[in-house]
Amino acid sequence: MRRVSKASAARDWEKRATQASRRLRGPSKFLPNIWSEVKGGLYEAQGRKCCYCESRVEERYNDVEHFRPKSTYWWLAYELKNLFFSCANCNRGKGDNFPVSGRRLAKRRLPWFRSAWRQEAALIICPDGLEGALPEDHVTFRQVGGRWLIVGLSPRGKATIKACQLDRDDLNLLRQEHVSDVLEPALLRWKVARPSERRRREKELCDHAHPQRRFSGLALAFLRHHGVLLAQDGTAATLASPLGSR
Ligand SMILES: [Zn+2]
Repeated sequence: MRRVSKASAARDWEKRATQASRRLRGPSKFLPNIWSEVKGGLYEAQGRKCCYCESRVEERYNDVEHFRPKSTYWWLAYELKNLFFSCANCNRGKGDNFPVSGRRLAKRRLPWFRSAWRQEAALIICPDGLEGALPEDHVTFRQVGGRWLIVGLSPRGKATIKACQLDRDDLNLLRQEHVSDVLEPALLRWKVARPSERRRREKELCDHAHPQRRFSGLALAFLRHHGVLLAQDGTAATLASPLGSR
């Protein structure tokens, strides 16, 4: 799980969404068109992958996810800060599940989403990192017995894995294939590269950990495990650059 950005997702959409929000009176009579209009923008902004499991999936068969479920937090149904693109499996796994630490303030209608996390402490980590926690600080991957497994580094990380079922068997298999078919070959190509090719191979390797790449959180843990990010040659700076800008 990596922090996602939605900066370019919905420039013209928010005005229509705000108008629709004003007409809401409860958790019913939602307008699905409002979500379908913003789905493509979210999908592209997030690198065409799920905000939770980082699987790269097709837009049409997957979902607009409400971080705070619309069944409870209905007034946030069209609030962009509450919307993400997610795969159907993560969305259905999470469902209406939204554990909090301390008081739940839903019935008091949080007045402004940006301040919601100051009033109500979500346990699930918000994918855009705006609720006081960066995904990367709470969820990582470790090699255990030759297999790469997702690990929660905190109660919030563990709650996120549990709520979204991020340790499900199909995901573990896909991640293992990503390591063996993509990451390990890229690492080997970098290790055996001639001096003239080494920089190019290093970029190819580090690109797998860019936040918009498939399973980038896994790639980040994999590279750290192999000491790649500890190099003194600017590798970390390479990772901080947007894709396509170099
Ligand atoms: Zn997912």
